[in-house]
Amino acid sequence: MGIFSKDIKSMEDLFQHVLQDIYYAEQQIIKSLPKMIDKATNRELTTALKSHLAETEKQVSRLEQAFELLNQKPKGTTCPAIDGIIKEADELASEIADKKVLDAGILAAAQAVEHYEITRYGSLIAWASELEKEAIAKLLATTLAEEKAADKKLTTIAEKKVNLKAAG
Ligand code: ZN
Ligand code: FE
Ligand code: FE
Ligand code: FE
Repeated sequence: MGIFSKDIKSMEDLFQHVLQDIYYAEQQIIKSLPKMIDKATNRELTTALKSHLAETEKQVSRLEQAFELLNQKPKGTTCPAIDGIIKEADELASEIADKKVLDAGILAAAQAVEHYEITRYGSLIAWASELEKEAIAKLLATTLAEEKAADKKLTTIAEKKVNLKAAG
């Protein structure tokens, strides 16, 4: 959908557009997480990122189920926001030499991704309920809970380990 074509005419269209947006975003996250895992050295951080990568794969299949419930083929639409967040993460990582400081940078970038996802799923769930798509709302609520838990876990790792070591 183009920026100038005004092809989003209803809440239904908006819902589907943002569903395609997050479908694209989750796929970009699947490509980006292994790079973050490679660059990170703190074991708790790499473990958390690895387990979230496995969750992210399940999240993609939940989105595919949502498209199925809409009788649509799963389709992504470019999300400039996630592209920007990932680009920023790559640039930041390339500028950090110290491995412990790099961990703190990677962790912060991962949390930026989680926060983006939390806003998208929050809106999608609210719209799905409004549009009486309760089965889809339920699927997306499972994913939202995972995103929030991943973010919380990262906060704990930052505060208890990674930031302490990086500042040390
Ligand atoms: Zn569009
Ligand atoms: Fe996700
Ligand atoms: Fe987006
Ligand atoms: Fe996530």
